Amino acid sequence: MQAEIISIGTELLLGAIVDTNAAYIARQLASIGLNLFYKTTVGDNAERIAYVIRQAMERSDVIITTGGLGPTVDDVTREGVAMAVGRPLQEHPEAMRHIEEFFRRRGRQPSKNNWRQARIPAEATVIPNPVGTAPAFIVEHEGKIIISLPGVPREMEYLMQHVVLPFLRERLHTGDTVIKSKVLRTCAIGESNVDDLIGDLMRSENPTVGLAAHVGQTDIRITAKAHSQAEADRLIADMEARVRARVGDYIYGTDDELLEEVVARELAARGAQVSILETNTAGEITRRLRAAPDGAKVIRASAVVPDDLPTLRAMGIELSPGDEHTFTPEEAAEVALTWRGQTGAAYGLVILGSQGESEGLYGERPGHTHIALADESGRVVHRDLGFGGREDLARAWIGNHALDLLRRALLGLPER
Ligand code: ATP
Repeated sequence: MQAEIISIGTELLLGAIVDTNAAYIARQLASIGLNLFYKTTVGDNAERIAYVIRQAMERSDVIITTGGLGPTVDDVTREGVAMAVGRPLQEHPEAMRHIEEFFRRRGRQPSKNNWRQARIPAEATVIPNPVGTAPAFIVEHEGKIIISLPGVPREMEYLMQHVVLPFLRERLHTGDTVIKSKVLRTCAIGESNVDDLIGDLMRSENPTVGLAAHVGQTDIRITAKAHSQAEADRLIADMEARVRARVGDYIYGTDDELLEEVVARELAARGAQVSILETNTAGEITRRLRAAPDGAKVIRASAVVPDDLPTLRAMGIELSPGDEHTFTPEEAAEVALTWRGQTGAAYGLVILGSQGESEGLYGERPGHTHIALADESGRVVHRDLGFGGREDLARAWIGNHALDLLRRALLGLPER
């Protein structure tokens, strides 16, 4: 059995709003084990809606549309569905009762436009919508099921949970299949390097293994399809073990976990604090760590250059962060030791980077960044990055490297 989603609305087509409904419906269909191979977006135009529905009916068994059920003339999903299946629109008594009731309870009168919402394709089944005015409906045609839901996310989600999913489970006996995913989150390694490590595993059919690259970080998503939760869990666990054997400690967490959350948690578990000094990241590393649960209590001190240059000078730390200035690894190590000692934290983390205007990962010149981490024993680990600058992408990568350096020190992992 295959499903597909059609998102209807010119606002969506033009990018004025983001199609969160399709993402939500996709996740729900996965939870009942229904395959989803296509998603389409179409504007508020009845002919074009009918066209994409007809196309969808050629390749899918269940078609879920969202949007365009409102009372105004540009809400034309009802017309589009009717055209696609070659049936007229009819005033549906149950839909009329629903609209009447909705307005009566609120002490209001439906407008002429509201009655438009009761005109749905002949022989459709009405899905009453207790959370809005637009009645949704189901049309069955030549063995295909078309389900039209409102666009307002709250209404769509309510009807998915209370009507559509139970209906599909019963009708398609999909309850016996589950699709489950787990995400392994990596840091300080690029997508192509992860691909090199697990490219062969990414050809597996069940579970599937896919990569999603974000700024400065790559996720590995393992998705299993099975007849029970337990079987899906087992499939995922086997694949996870194989992936971990290859990717190892580049993996810092799972699912929604953030790198800064892991670092804050590990610091808090040891009752330890870090002092952070940032040159070309504008305080972003401190901000990220502070935003994590436990974040505020694990930061001892934070300095941003150039704002805090006088304070640093008073501590015996002299920095000359001009645009053209490049730091050396020795300088970074020395600053990390002094900064840690002067602030009395367990760890001193310093980021000394060049900040030329045109530098960055995609800049004219890459620039350079040294990250150094000093601990209480006087040991310093450091990482040299072949880029600096002030662009957002470079900043995100530098932040991830800095937090990863601290994570590795906390967990006793070897520095790469
Ligand atoms: P109603 O009759 O309840 O207003 P409708 O079916 O007419 O619903 P639309 O007019 O298409 O829905 O959309 C109403 C609002 O819902 C949009 O302005 C938008 O904010 C939101 N919306 C619609 N479609 C989506 C979508 N796919 N993802 C996220 N939000 C959406």
